[in-house]
Parts: sequence; C-alpha cells; structure tokens
Amino acid sequence: MKRIGYSNCTLIVNGNNSILIDTGVRGFLKSITRMIRQNRLSLSDIRLIILTHVHYDHTGNLHQLKKLTGARVLVHKNEFENLKNGYMPIPGGQRFLVKLVSDLGKMFVSGFASPKPFTADIVNENEYDLSSYGINGKVISTPGHSPGSQSVIVGKKIIAGDCFMNMNYGVVFPHFAENPLLLLDSWKSILDSGIEEIYPGHGNILKAEKAYPVFMKWKKKLKTDSY
Ligand SMILES: [Zn+2]
Repeated sequence: MKRIGYSNCTLIVNGNNSILIDTGVRGFLKSITRMIRQNRLSLSDIRLIILTHVHYDHTGNLHQLKKLTGARVLVHKNEFENLKNGYMPIPGGQRFLVKLVSDLGKMFVSGFASPKPFTADIVNENEYDLSSYGINGKVISTPGHSPGSQSVIVGKKIIAGDCFMNMNYGVVFPHFAENPLLLLDSWKSILDSGIEEIYPGHGNILKAEKAYPVFMKWKKKLKTDSY
C-alpha cells in the first residue's frame, strides 16, 4: 500500500497478473508508476484496476493508468453509471462540523466528489472472484460510504477503501458516509469474517481488533437495535 496524495493505492503483486486497487489523487501518477516499478513490475503487468469506489480521490489517475497499463477496470454495478457520467454526489457528513462542511460543499461545489467520466470494463454485481488472475481472493460489496463501495479480500487482509479510515487521530468511522447504517452493516460483516488486517482508503494499515471498539461506539450512537 502506498499513499498517493492523501488517498491510498494498493498493489497486489502477482507477476504479469498483478492488480492495482484505486488510483489516488490526480497529479500523483508518478508515485503510482514508481510503486509499480519498485515491485519489479512493468506497467503492462497490471492486468486489473479495481476501484473501491469512484470518488475523485480514488479515480484521479484512472485515465492515464488505463492507457499506460492496458488493464481492465472493475467497478461495482451501483457506481458504473456514476463513473460513466462523471458524477458522484458528495456523501453526507457524520459529525456536525463535517456535516456543515459537507452541506456547504453540496451547495457550492456540487459534483466536487465526482470522477472524470470513464466507462469501466467489468461490473461487479455483488462478488467478483479473482482466481482468473491467479489470486486467491475476491471483491465483495461493502456499501455505506457510497452505494457502490467494494473491498478486496486476500487471505486475512481486506483492502477496504473508504469503508475505513485510520488517520493520525485513530481509527474512525468515516465521517463522510452516504448511508451510515449500511456502513455499519459492512463493518459488522467484515469484523465478523475473521479478517485480521484492514487497509483503509486513507491513513495507515490497522488491526481489525482496533476497529471493534469503534464499531461498538457507533452502533450505540446510531441507535440501531438491529444487532
Ligand atoms: Zn470516498
């Protein structure tokens, strides 16, 4: 995993069947190509680009990387159209301040979270098996932060996009979530699945057990009795 601007990109190294997850913030293309080369891969070794979701800070270098690598691009069905049309509404905020910022954002820069229009090659309906890339892993739906948020599971690790954030001030329930209850459900299924390590969309890798108390706190806060 590598920080590209303020977002993370993750590379699953597997020779000429390697996979790149997310494409970071625009303007940081060189950091990504360097990461690929540092892993002794050439750009054409990237066969698949998986988008955890299509917000601008995860799709910033998508067009160039598609051109440079020739990789196929996988997006969740719930965001295929958003990506194609280059429109993604900014998610609502959780905390008051963030909510304020988010509301202001909606008012003044509607479409601020949007990607550049792009037509993906593969649509994940719900789950997508990676064995055809020689990788014992899969892409699963983890909605909440955005409707088509998806995560990649390899062994006991999950590359979770903005389903999780682990900033300097600790593990957080992402303050920008379109559907917090759905996000909580996604957290629950991930934490229940025996995953040990979480690669978040922003911030550092974290142990799943660190997220558990945060889950309990938000479960209470969102006053859900569905568990
Ligand atoms: Zn996002």
